[in-house]
Amino acid sequence: MDKITIYDKDFGIFISHDEILAAVLKIAEKINNELAGKDVIALGILNGAFMFASDLVREFKINCRVSFLKVVSYQGDVSSGNVNRLIGLNEDIHGKTVLVIEDIVDSGLTMDTVLGHLQRFKPEGIKVAALLLKPEKYNYPSKVDYVGFEIPNDFVIGYGLDYNGYGRNLKDIYRVINH
Ligand code: 5GP
Repeated sequence: MDKITIYDKDFGIFISHDEILAAVLKIAEKINNELAGKDVIALGILNGAFMFASDLVREFKINCRVSFLKVVSYQGDVSSGNVNRLIGLNEDIHGKTVLVIEDIVDSGLTMDTVLGHLQRFKPEGIKVAALLLKPEKYNYPSKVDYVGFEIPNDFVIGYGLDYNGYGRNLKDIYRVINH
């Protein structure tokens, strides 16, 4: 499938499943070297990172637990506007090494929210792995430690990423070709 249509948008193939898996393997090798000997808690961010997280942790040789978190946005009071909250943290991360697994980092706001919440529990350290990074809009001081692909500022779907709920199940990554 080289081209697909979801609602009003057409998407063309951008990164093949084989290319994704090669990038995932490279990230896993780095993590296996750098986090060897640590007590690691891998935290996948739902929904988008479920596929990346499952392929990535399968390649781990490190000692680790695997869990998932979700960032939910709710309406705060008038002064705070929309507030992001993290749900699903059931693990004790105090003194542990946390590996946050993200599908895509765009402006960096979501990652910054996640890191801010996790830091309050005083982990030994936090690392971030993102399959995709859009450096053009990235606007936060904390950096992503492990990146699969740096991509232009186009809307992408597949391999966990959706457009209005569709496209998450696709094994390749597609990018929009009309707007
Ligand atoms: P950020 O907070 O870094 O600006 O955006 C991160 C979130 O926006 C991601 O977790 C994802 O949900 C969404 N996002 C950003 N760019 C894309 C994209 O190209 N495709 C899809 N499907 N979601 C995106």
